[in-house]
Amino acid sequence: MAVPARKTSKAKKARRRTHYKLSVPGLTACSNCGEMRKSHHVCPSCGHYDGKDVMTKEA
Ligand SMILES: [Zn+2]
Repeated sequence: MAVPARKTSKAKKARRRTHYKLSVPGLTACSNCGEMRKSHHVCPSCGHYDGKDVMTKEA
């Protein structure tokens, strides 16, 4: 059975994995409410951004 001539280096492995990413890019769980939100965007469900409430309900 054929085997690889040499070990895959850390750099080679890292380069291959640069193409691996989540199927839904730029979508993370909100740190405040746990709802899925776009990263670098204000959470649409609780209005928090960067740990602060930036969109308090007015009126
Ligand atoms: Zn939230």
